[in-house]
Amino acid sequence: SLKFTPVGDIDDIVVKSRKAYDERQWHLYRTKNPRKEDLKLRLRQLQNLYYGIKDHEEEIVEALESDFNRSRYETFVIELIPLYNHLLHLIDNLPRYIEPEKISESTNLFKLSSVQVERISLGSVLVIAPFNYPVLLALDPVAAAIGSGNSVVLKPSEQTPATAQVMEKILKKSVDPSWVQVVHGSVEETGKLINNPHFDKIFYTGSTKVGRIVAEAAAKNLIPVTLELGGKSPVFITENCAPGNLKTALKRVFFGAFSNSGQTCIASDYLLVHESQVAKVRELTKEVLDEFWPTVNSKTINTSMIHDSAYKGVIEKLNSTRGEKLQPSDAKEQLPDRRIVPTVVLGVDWDDSLMENENFAPVLPVIPYRDLDDAIRMVLKEHRNPLAMYIFSQKKQEVDRIMTIVKSGGCMINDTLLHVVAVDAPFGGIRESGQGNYHGIWSFAAFTHERTVVKQPYWIEFVNGVRYPPFSTKKLSL
Ligand code: NAD
Repeated sequence: SLKFTPVGDIDDIVVKSRKAYDERQWHLYRTKNPRKEDLKLRLRQLQNLYYGIKDHEEEIVEALESDFNRSRYETFVIELIPLYNHLLHLIDNLPRYIEPEKISESTNLFKLSSVQVERISLGSVLVIAPFNYPVLLALDPVAAAIGSGNSVVLKPSEQTPATAQVMEKILKKSVDPSWVQVVHGSVEETGKLINNPHFDKIFYTGSTKVGRIVAEAAAKNLIPVTLELGGKSPVFITENCAPGNLKTALKRVFFGAFSNSGQTCIASDYLLVHESQVAKVRELTKEVLDEFWPTVNSKTINTSMIHDSAYKGVIEKLNSTRGEKLQPSDAKEQLPDRRIVPTVVLGVDWDDSLMENENFAPVLPVIPYRDLDDAIRMVLKEHRNPLAMYIFSQKKQEVDRIMTIVKSGGCMINDTLLHVVAVDAPFGGIRESGQGNYHGIWSFAAFTHERTVVKQPYWIEFVNGVRYPPFSTKKLSL
């Protein structure tokens, strides 16, 4: 089991983190070329972290299996490969990110000056991670924070204890403690961290409910936050999804709904289908479910619900829904260890319990609609700002209309989920689904302050002199 960090030690850990950061800045201050030295130090930590993860790959896979039966394949596809991509992308681009960016300023006053934006490190930052992608969503922000020059305190999810321990081991072995420390714990320990005034940034990934608690605590100390929260992401299959594409569309929707057993922040959470497509969707759903899972057992259905209450909650919803449940034909009985057989529920109403919150389970409710406007009105009324939105339609004008009215964190047209792995595009939510972006340059921006630096040559005084007294109307016309 996971040993929580004693609450009494937590303030010292934060002070140590801030002190380590300050000492590093003094070290840079004393070097001949601080930026070059800073780059070298950051890169060394990032490279060590990359190899540290690589060296412990198998332990990570085993830990995730022991925490919630995640398969090796899934851990690689949805967690380790994206993590490596992000890390290598950061290492490759860091020399560019760290250089001040020249701005071509259009005000005449600065025509003869140099105007630059420099992204400066913040200090000591807190990263709080969720359980569902416990490695990626912890180590990706940690790497971004290091790359941006900060010291980090990581609070992994206590719901995945084995993974939390492996990550601590990797970090201890590969990264200098002056850069990263780990605090284990649950509500009390995290509460102590978020109320500490010495952090310079909090990067939180998790539920919207806890996001509010984090934002409130941070606001007291004016600590900036990035909040990567949840939400119920809708999928539209409109009347303009071509019949020939419907099967592929469903495969893509199910990939989004059933990966990690549905425990994905940007999962396809519910499916809105135009009534003209419903019969075909029903027929093809059966076909695709049988193709995906010709056999249904603990070997083919891996990832479990994270804990008993999550499991019971889903079973209750499935028992109470009035919709028609479709599962792979081979699914005969319940599976052990909190596993749930992928289930598509047809003919769901808006007042069904499956439509209340994120399902976070391999369950996809399908709501038929007649009028697109009505369907959109319900989306806006019930779940106004989803983290993602997926639209399957061949008609550009229709796609544009949906995108105009529904403001989501991200969006895919004719697919699901994959926008999250685009390394050069921002990822983040809007309002209840989050604040701030990361990935690529946006990860760097999340952990730095953009400082404008204007350098004035002395020789431009003949122009700049107009600002000094004595004033005259003649000076105004210059
Ligand atoms: P959670 O909010 O329960 O926990 C996240 C973290 O907050 C954990 O480290 C936990 O220890 C801590 N925490 C829990 N209760 C707390 C409290 N009262 N005070 C302070 N800290 C507390 O989330 P989870 O169940 O681990 O993750 C699932 C949620 O995260 C879903 O809502 C999902 O949509 C969201 N999520 C969002 C993203 C994203 O990128 N936007 C990614 C993954 C998950």
